[in-house]
Amino acid sequence: MSDARERAESLFARHFQADPTGVFSAPGRVNLIGEHTDYNDGFVLPLAISQRTVVAASIRDDGAVVAVSEGHGDAVTYDIASLDSADLTGWAAYVVGVVWALAQHRREGSTALGVSLAICSDVPTGAGLSSSAAVECAVAVAVNDLWGLGLEPRALAGLGQQVENEVVGAHTGGMDQMVSMLSLADHALFLDCRTDDIEHIPCSWSAAGLALVVMDTGVRHANASSAYGDRRKSCEEAAAVVGVPALRDASLTQLRDYQGALGEENYARARHIVTENARVLDTVDALRASDFETVGALFSQSHLSMRDDYDISCPELDLAVESAQGAGALGARMTGGGFGGCAIALISAELLSHLEGELHHHFSSRGWQVPRVGVVRASAGARVEQAL
Ligand code: ADP
Ligand code: MG
Repeated sequence: MSDARERAESLFARHFQADPTGVFSAPGRVNLIGEHTDYNDGFVLPLAISQRTVVAASIRDDGAVVAVSEGHGDAVTYDIASLDSADLTGWAAYVVGVVWALAQHRREGSTALGVSLAICSDVPTGAGLSSSAAVECAVAVAVNDLWGLGLEPRALAGLGQQVENEVVGAHTGGMDQMVSMLSLADHALFLDCRTDDIEHIPCSWSAAGLALVVMDTGVRHANASSAYGDRRKSCEEAAAVVGVPALRDASLTQLRDYQGALGEENYARARHIVTENARVLDTVDALRASDFETVGALFSQSHLSMRDDYDISCPELDLAVESAQGAGALGARMTGGGFGGCAIALISAELLSHLEGELHHHFSSRGWQVPRVGVVRASAGARVEQAL
């Protein structure tokens, strides 16, 4: 953590020839369980990871936003008052998009307010750990604080989602920004995507000698967004056939009653959503009871459901999950949208090097890139690192 913070402060000093007046950060996230349930008004259970995106920032009095981000090429400069969000492309859409959205909340007479931003991140991009929400939330917290806007964390999370939907053009739900903004250390965030109600669920597996590991397959699939749209459509069709507002309201018995009308594919996809929602609730109960055997079993059931019913896994994710199970994990599952990215496993901390050996053995014998393994600790959401 101090790494990205130190880098952000020195990037700021190098680029703006001054010290920043504030330093802010927000974490990436991993989803413990509850995949593709968000757009079915269902339940998700993500946690914030220890890798964070850090923003060193100062107010400017020329009405400009000037942003530089480590590893993202040249700095960008925009005049905020005349900014058209449609002109924002690439990484500027995420960063300047948030500044643009927050500018709508400023009081009259403060039009000359601008901001200088230097960004450094330890969240890998495109790995399914939501580097996009991390940078949106870190910038949102920074500008909210510097401009004295006083917006609540939930409002800032909503604004990050709005930027992702309207400026970036990614049709994502609000889970990533909620978890990056609102998480508590050592807790997962249980989110009801219908009501936006949240509960902080304790994650005490490390006291039981267990570790949550993320295995990044390195696979990045280009067809993920069309497959995502296709799954969403199946879910909407299935809800209409069953006669419920969303699949969150359907039971397995109802699905069976309509099995013929649903057709084989939509039936299987709807079954994933209905069973996955139930698994999220069961995982919450098991975590509260520190029953990690059950958590692990639910992970593994979730993976089978995504592989066989929802059809969003890939051979590398399946092999990572099987390798972890073979190494003695209590359970494992792919996490995120699918077709690549990361899998997670709950495993005895003593078996970590054994797991790495198994992954190395299975992947290299197929000539596949060996997944990178990292241990995840549930971390705190967005925060001010250093006040004005
Ligand atoms: P992820 O799963 O990592 O969120 P996305 O495709 O949703 O993947 O978002 C990745 C994009 O977010 C990057 O290509 C970049 O445009 C933007 N982004 C992420 N982190 C940063 C950062 N630290 N600085 C600038 N832009 C960032
Ligand atoms: Mg993202």
